[in-house]
Amino acid sequence: MLGSIGSAAAVAKMSADQRIAANRSEPLMVAEHAQPFVLPTLGYPFDALEPHIDARTMEIHLTKHHKAYVDNANKALEQLPGLKNLSAERLLSNLEVVPQSARMALQNNVGGHVNHSLFWELLMPGGSSRPSGALADAINSTFGSFDAFKSTFSNAASTRFGSGWAWLVAPRQGGLRILSTANQDSPLMDNAAPVIGLDVWEHAYYLKYQNKRADYIQAFWKILNWDVAGRLFASVR
Ligand code: MN
Repeated sequence: MLGSIGSAAAVAKMSADQRIAANRSEPLMVAEHAQPFVLPTLGYPFDALEPHIDARTMEIHLTKHHKAYVDNANKALEQLPGLKNLSAERLLSNLEVVPQSARMALQNNVGGHVNHSLFWELLMPGGSSRPSGALADAINSTFGSFDAFKSTFSNAASTRFGSGWAWLVAPRQGGLRILSTANQDSPLMDNAAPVIGLDVWEHAYYLKYQNKRADYIQAFWKILNWDVAGRLFASVR
């Protein structure tokens, strides 16, 4: 479709919606967050993850940190009515349609909203403690074993310098990959759908674990709901 248009001027006249339709990036995730963004409620009490993540950390993390990402994303998007029909996931998959002056604000704050929304859903004791079905098969074939996967993921989380996230992602071309991102950068920016995400910003663990990020990473495995990860993997387009 884009190839038939034939001039840069014609492309420039297209709306953001049209450019995305003509371009590469349908987001890989089925669930999308529409604008204006809304702070989610947890599906469990703040103390549900004790002793692995303490209630105070959960409360501050959701009601202060995540809320700031939601508020700042909505504020930046108020100035960009041409983008109002784009979901958070579509924006992150197509940041090139965002004016340069607002791009970093949306990368950080829309990324923060999507990343944290996913994180809350992935946490909760009571799900499977190990992957099953297609996700288990894909982990075994990609990493050799569940333990090898865990070790590689934990290493990505512990070696991310400064603030960021560790991810298990499903790239558009198929398969699975482990990576880490800086700040609130989303794997959607690189055409990969998150299956598991671990927040390794100090705000995620400092009250309880102080500088001991490795202990927090070990605790994460005890509260990761593999049923949710399996559903995310199954929903990747
Ligand atoms: Mn966080």
